[in-house]
Amino acid sequence: MPLQTTTPAPGVTVNVNVPNATVDVQQPARPAPRRRPSRRIVSIETRRSSRFCVDDPQADWFVLSNDGVLFGVRGANAEICGEGIYDLNSPDAADDELEWHIKMNAPARVLEILFEYLYNRRRRTDLETVSIDLLIELIDVAEEYRVRSAIDACQKALRKHITDNALKVVQVSGKHGYNDELVRAAPYVVDEDLSVIWANLPNHLHMPWAIFREKYVACYISALETYPEHPGCARWPAIVLTVLKMLRGKPRQILIDAENIFREAREQVMVQHGPTVCCVAHIRHWCQRVLTRRNAIGDLEVPA
Ligand SMILES: [Zn+2]
Repeated sequence: MPLQTTTPAPGVTVNVNVPNATVDVQQPARPAPRRRPSRRIVSIETRRSSRFCVDDPQADWFVLSNDGVLFGVRGANAEICGEGIYDLNSPDAADDELEWHIKMNAPARVLEILFEYLYNRRRRTDLETVSIDLLIELIDVAEEYRVRSAIDACQKALRKHITDNALKVVQVSGKHGYNDELVRAAPYVVDEDLSVIWANLPNHLHMPWAIFREKYVACYISALETYPEHPGCARWPAIVLTVLKMLRGKPRQILIDAENIFREAREQVMVQHGPTVCCVAHIRHWCQRVLTRRNAIGDLEVPA
């Protein structure tokens, strides 16, 4: 069909929009997405969130948790703050028989917190007060639906658990690439079996982990082997044996506790042989060698 069917009058300029020749005209045009979700009718028996209630007049997007609780949120907020929470192309959004527009892969207890990050003016849960397990569930769903502000808050809260739940922090940090948290938590789980770590870390971190762990193991072995020579002292061989027994244990645990172990050894020797006994200086020297090497162990090196 011609673009123009009448001849313009002389002196009249007509601007014609010529289609861009590079566009593949054979491609069937994609149907335009529906711009507004249809209203949903929710049965009285349906379990619903009290904080993100489907009765809220501003709630125009209904989400079903994977444990069957219905949430009402503002679609525009969900569209801006995440990816895939608001999705007009989801099969459920087109099905007017359903009570929800979309089902999310998370239970209600997690969505109750996640949806706080779709709103700026509502009070949010202090993530430092939630358990590590709930925090990890929240991280997984925030990452899945790319709710950036929730991810940032979760990462900050995760640091609180580094000392007490290092393995869980390592696991979730490795999974989502939170390198700072991973590096900070790594030393706390160096003594875990490699099989445990392998099961909790993605493949690309296995070799860096093995190298990191080996530094602790090598340092520990050197602690056992680098006792100073103390020729001519009849007491020293027995004292060395006593200290070696005190150094039995898991590599990192012993290395972290080295100052205390050697202090206790010195005190025992002084009690047994008097405060001026020659061996005390040699124990101190031994301790110093261990600490120097231990303090030179660097961080886990995460590949870029
Ligand atoms: Zn001595």
